[in-house]
Amino acid sequence: MSNARTRALAEFATHSAKRFYEDSRPVSEYFGMNVFDLPKMQLYLSTEAYKAVVNAVNNGEKIERDIADQIAAGMKNWAVKMGATHYTHWFQPLTDATAEKHESFADPMEGGVGVFENFKGSTLIQQEPDASSFPNGGLRNTFEARGYTAWDPSSPAFIIGQTLCIPTVFVAYTGEALDQKTPHLKSIAAVDKAATAICKMFDKNVNKVRPQLGIEQEYFLVDEALYSARPDLVICGRTLVGHNAAKDQQLEDHYFGAIPSRVMAFMQDFETEAYKLGVRLKTRHNEVAPNQFEFAPVYGEANISSDQNLMMMIIMKNIAVKHKLKVIFHEKPFDGVNGSGKHCNWSMVTDTGVNLLKPGRTPRTNLQFLCFFSAVMRGVYEHNYLLMSTVASLNNMYRLGGSEAPPAVMSIFIGETLTKLVESIEQLTDKNLTSVTDKEVKVRSKLHIVNQIPEILPDNTDRNRTSPFAFTGNRFEFRAVGSSANVASSIFVLNTIVAEQLIRFKSLVDKNTDSGLSMDKAMMKVIRQFLLESKKIRFEGNGYSEEWRKEAAKRGLKDVKNVPLAFKEFIDKKNVKLFEDMDIMTCREAMARYEVLNEIYVKKLQIEARVLGDLATNHVIPTAITFQNSLITNVKGLKDLYPKDYAETCAMQLRLISKISGYINNLHEDVHNLIEARKVANKIEDVPQKAKNYYDTVLPYMASIRRYADKLEMVIDDELWPLPKYRELQSFR
Ligand code: ADP
Ligand code: MG
Repeated sequence: MSNARTRALAEFATHSAKRFYEDSRPVSEYFGMNVFDLPKMQLYLSTEAYKAVVNAVNNGEKIERDIADQIAAGMKNWAVKMGATHYTHWFQPLTDATAEKHESFADPMEGGVGVFENFKGSTLIQQEPDASSFPNGGLRNTFEARGYTAWDPSSPAFIIGQTLCIPTVFVAYTGEALDQKTPHLKSIAAVDKAATAICKMFDKNVNKVRPQLGIEQEYFLVDEALYSARPDLVICGRTLVGHNAAKDQQLEDHYFGAIPSRVMAFMQDFETEAYKLGVRLKTRHNEVAPNQFEFAPVYGEANISSDQNLMMMIIMKNIAVKHKLKVIFHEKPFDGVNGSGKHCNWSMVTDTGVNLLKPGRTPRTNLQFLCFFSAVMRGVYEHNYLLMSTVASLNNMYRLGGSEAPPAVMSIFIGETLTKLVESIEQLTDKNLTSVTDKEVKVRSKLHIVNQIPEILPDNTDRNRTSPFAFTGNRFEFRAVGSSANVASSIFVLNTIVAEQLIRFKSLVDKNTDSGLSMDKAMMKVIRQFLLESKKIRFEGNGYSEEWRKEAAKRGLKDVKNVPLAFKEFIDKKNVKLFEDMDIMTCREAMARYEVLNEIYVKKLQIEARVLGDLATNHVIPTAITFQNSLITNVKGLKDLYPKDYAETCAMQLRLISKISGYINNLHEDVHNLIEARKVANKIEDVPQKAKNYYDTVLPYMASIRRYADKLEMVIDDELWPLPKYRELQSFR
């Protein structure tokens, strides 16, 4: 008996661990070799050109065309020496993927004989991709379909394969953003401006504040042969049917377990390539679900971290091919086990090297820390639903709130020490604003374990894995972001809402000092105000509990489970005003994004519904009928043998035959209803309305179809089942 599954299993058995990108040198010797970073620029550029780049990175100053020519020439010389034949503007359209269009360095020589490597400043700075089919939400009519990519000098160019990739923004003919990077860069500038103004009240030497990001990337690995035998994984990135394995994550033996050898070889190859691309990878480990893994680089400047994360997603996919593996970034590839997220660790650092979210020796003496801490709390409270709505997507909604990932409603966890501090600040009266003493808040003392073990100094905060937004000692960790997302699409909102509150903070402090308060008192007064105003967003308990669900509703904190409804937040008056006031995007740009979010939602769900219909109709039902036929043959044979009491002899078979008929009928009916619901929804012109309709009428059938398919999987002969099963997809030798 051979079917797609058995053939895949046979191939799977031949796959083994092997390295393809081994480099025996110490990492420090090849780290960053594929990046045109500052040290390389110094080698390849004139002093004048080098200074222009540094100035652009540090002070946002424009690079003149003639200097751009010099930079382009240096960049090309380096890239060609490294073996690059092509270059591309590398940009981030409003999908979660990146886009590239390669062009050769080779230009014809004058006179028509031969070619030479050529790369002009104008080509470095700007390109006009023939790209009228990127999502644009109506920002580009086809008659003015031009879009421009423009070089982002703050993110260094790099080589993947034989192509020089130049990070760029992507905007329409009108200058309106068509990508994720543009608002992100604008929001970084907004944080810089607002935060620097406050820092200057403490230290005149601070001239710049940079948001920092440390991104933890979770992912699944599946054997390529098994993956290819699952149309749902291939097309949708997740399994649409499939019964849970008898054993998956319940023994909690995968998390931090020994890494399987095939996976280890993949990880090592991936790390070698990542180091060459200047990514400071730090951690690698098994995650909670079987076949789930995670890596995290050391944090760095937000724009670069975000670009590097996208870069890593590309090279992981490339390298996996060699290992006959598939990397799955989908938020919920398997039902019943944990999904994947991308935890975003976020903080702000000054150009004098101070982390503004790091409490001092005792938190309360650290007034500067409290300014920034309270502003983040205030911002996240004010725009909690907007921030959560940035993580809303068809994929991520299968993950959020399933008692394995953060709930779909925003709250902030700050831990015991800071809670005590915050509570004591809230109780301050105008008279004793700076009377806060160090004694009241005890930073936890060292933990003594056994004699030979050194003492442990616990963090100032405990861990609470059930919180979507947790303070973890010197940063906030936004855990709700999906594993397949471009983090810029969430982080630009976080930056923006914090910048808004920092501006508000400064103006309130100025008002207080104008009315005669000392600077310290003026600040404490605003800190107290911000903490009181944002009280509702603080939650220290179990985010998975039913109590919290009720409590959150009482507090008026909305959840984003209804994805199309969450998208609507983007064009809410208050939020459009925020984007406009903070110079992040115009109302038209926000509307376009809203349109794109809905469009992607509809298309993804449409594809899932089609694939599920196909699986049910063309895989599951025919297999069920084949098996049922064998039962019928069996019953007929037994009837010949035992004509008198055949009903008793065949009791089990008869029950099973009728059970299978029942499941098949239900399955068929659900598929029919699903198709009808889609037909109705597809007639709706208005995209947001269509998305709402898909959510209300199509989505519910998906779960029901799956239930019957999975029931059939449990009763049908294992030999016949054509789709690799969960226990197979979730295993590695
Ligand atoms: P955990 O799984 O315990 O949360 P990891 O070590 O996997 O921690 O990842 C933590 C991430 O947070 C890393 O990318 C790390 O560099 C980053 N990080 C650490 N400190 C900061 C900070 N001050 N600002 C931003 N990110 C930080
Ligand atoms: Mg974490």
